[in-house]
Amino acid sequence: MASLSSVPPEVLQEILSHLLPVSATEPTSRHAFVSLSLTSRWLQSAVEGYSKHLLSRLSVRFPSPRSPFRPPYVRTYLRHASAHCLFCNRVTLSVARVFNDIRCCRACNTNWSALTLSECRTEWRLPKELLLQRCQYGEYTVWGVRTTVFLESDVMKLAREVHGDLDAWIEKRTDKWKERYRKRKGTSPTSGRPRMQRC
Ligand SMILES: [Zn+2]
Repeated sequence: MASLSSVPPEVLQEILSHLLPVSATEPTSRHAFVSLSLTSRWLQSAVEGYSKHLLSRLSVRFPSPRSPFRPPYVRTYLRHASAHCLFCNRVTLSVARVFNDIRCCRACNTNWSALTLSECRTEWRLPKELLLQRCQYGEYTVWGVRTTVFLESDVMKLAREVHGDLDAWIEKRTDKWKERYRKRKGTSPTSGRPRMQRC
């Protein structure tokens, strides 16, 4: 009968890779690597070997003059991953603004294109409940104020589903705005409606 120990190492590595990345918000003691290590000696050895492999990979990607990583490798890896940017390996306590569970430095955070809740509601006329259900989002602090931000690509996909052709929808909204402007001011606006340029 096949047992877990007969699983080829590359398959085991593939399985363990699905337990990554290490959470930026949960204590490392709760990571699945720790639980697996406590299950059996064989799994402890397997997870230890995989953690060593991950640390070696980090050493190659980000060479450092500091002393090499030391065993126990599971603990070393979890500690390292929980305090370093997932993308550039800088020491950081920041998290990615959309994916709050990922450790991500401020410089790398610019890679996440995101829209605030208020932008989604006022510019794209999308209700909060629908955004929360359908888009990846996170909490992010902007100028000391906590705000919810949504992954822009998800918002655009949802906007297309809700409004159809976005170019046509924006044009329709712009025409309505111009009409309101004319009624209010008695003259045509000299420039296009502000915002509503993203598509
Ligand atoms: Zn970074």
